[in-house]
Amino acid sequence: MSEERSLNFLEEIVEEDIREGKNGGRIHTRFPPEPNGYLHIGHAKSICLNFGLAQKYNGLTNLRFDDTNPVTEDTEYVESIKEDVKWLGFNWANELYASDYFDQIYAFAVDLIRKGLAYVDDSTAEEIASQKGTPTEPGKPSEYRSRSVEENLQLFEEMKAGKYPDGAKVLRAKIDLASPNMHLRDPLMYRIKHAHHHRTGDKWCIYPMYDFAHGQSDSIEHITHSVCTLEFIPHRALYDWFIEELQIFPSHQYEFARLNMTYTVMSKRKLLQLVKENHVESWDDPRMPTISGLRRRGYTPASIREFCERIGIAKRENIIDLSLLEFCIREDLNKTAWRRMAVLDPVKLVITNYPEGDGEILHGENNPEVEGGEGGRDIPFSRELYIEREDFMEVAPKKFFRLGPGLMVRLKNAYIIKCEDFVKDAEGNITEIHCTYIPESKSGSDTSGINVKGTIHWVSVPHAKTAEVRLYDRLFKVEDPASEEGDFKEYLNPDSLQIITAYIEPDLATAIPGKGYQFIRKGYFTLDKHSTPEKPVFNRTVTLKDGWAKK
Ligand code: ATP
Ligand code: MG
Repeated sequence: MSEERSLNFLEEIVEEDIREGKNGGRIHTRFPPEPNGYLHIGHAKSICLNFGLAQKYNGLTNLRFDDTNPVTEDTEYVESIKEDVKWLGFNWANELYASDYFDQIYAFAVDLIRKGLAYVDDSTAEEIASQKGTPTEPGKPSEYRSRSVEENLQLFEEMKAGKYPDGAKVLRAKIDLASPNMHLRDPLMYRIKHAHHHRTGDKWCIYPMYDFAHGQSDSIEHITHSVCTLEFIPHRALYDWFIEELQIFPSHQYEFARLNMTYTVMSKRKLLQLVKENHVESWDDPRMPTISGLRRRGYTPASIREFCERIGIAKRENIIDLSLLEFCIREDLNKTAWRRMAVLDPVKLVITNYPEGDGEILHGENNPEVEGGEGGRDIPFSRELYIEREDFMEVAPKKFFRLGPGLMVRLKNAYIIKCEDFVKDAEGNITEIHCTYIPESKSGSDTSGINVKGTIHWVSVPHAKTAEVRLYDRLFKVEDPASEEGDFKEYLNPDSLQIITAYIEPDLATAIPGKGYQFIRKGYFTLDKHSTPEKPVFNRTVTLKDGWAKK
């Protein structure tokens, strides 16, 4: 983690509040997901921010499900959200649900009606919209705006009792139809929705709007700093108005720029479309920007937290390059991944002077980045090996430090070999490479005195196991698919997944689920959740280098 950095603007606000003794110096934040989808990397930013602030200033963070829209919400999403927040490494003080406050929020509404600050409106959505005016032109009062308190109380109670169909009536706040802030022009507080709620069942057929649920929930929980994204700036005046008129705990809203990232989309609605229309396998498809997708792909919690730390907290929208996220996981895995050998595009190599039928067990350390190598594993070696097809060239250019006629190279953890000959088929494809080895050049006890520039990886043919390897690329072909013309799905990258069969060294057949492996020279990989002992499946987390930076 980057240790020295200046305070972000929210930390400055919090420190100022603590200095002034506001709320007795208490810090209480919340992370408020709507359980209508899986969390994505943008939510990770909000999670790191909310939990991070509380951690830094000895405060608490609630996990509050903002479940006020019964139609799109589901317990499957609730469970996945809890799993993802925990996996990221955060513990909430309380698990709460806005729906638990429905009685209280209803009572708040009744209180505003009694104060003459809310009214039941029978107008249709279209009528309400057409009466709203424009930012430069005041709105017109609805004919129902002047209803008496008694009538409003009765109608609102009847709405709750289920007397009216969806859309027949709404409850609106009576604020200011001429306000330059459109959100203050008598905003909706409640609508009728005869729908089953995943927690409250059929108890309610009226549901509070976001603006009359979010701040109220914050206040009920005595949240001190309610952090949300920039699009809620115009809602802040309304957030404050409700709290002031209700005379309840004065939570405050602060806004920061949401995370946007290149080559992906970041809205649950769009991600849901990708799942529903089978453009990806599931919410946790390793190409998805979801936390569960990143986890399945081999990202670590530390790498995601580091990414969120590096992008920082800003007050202006921007778009972060996907390569920064990839940089963070590379840095992390370089320190922790175990090194193994796998050949993704094999060609056979025969060591003609190595005894036939013979073989030996070589040794390779697990992790050269750690002193002692974190132990190691046995690597069987024999006369016949697979190497990567691209590591041989019939006519090699000057700086090709790999194999070609007459060239020498070191086999990783093994010997130096020299290419003597090769075999081609009728189409001109190389089918076999013939080499000789230098017995005194064994890694660890090399007395050959020969220096070679290149080292290549290999797998022994008789000992090799096979594995399915999934190579992922960017999900979209363009930087910002959501802002392109037409349907964002037209910009999906048709080559975002390539499935191949690779030869792996035997130790990889017992790879540990959830652990990162570096396939030497090829990238970082991890077992997929669908992997079985009979058929290992590996996901490529990330390549070793940023291949796109060059292009
Ligand atoms: P989406 O637009 O993807 O559906 P949302 O804002 O509707 O997201 P919520 O479940 O309401 O999703 O979000 C929970 C919290 O996460 C909110 O405080 C929201 O501001 C924050 N959040 C959502 N998306 C991002 C993002 N891209 N960057 C930072 N914070 C985000
Ligand atoms: Mg939302």
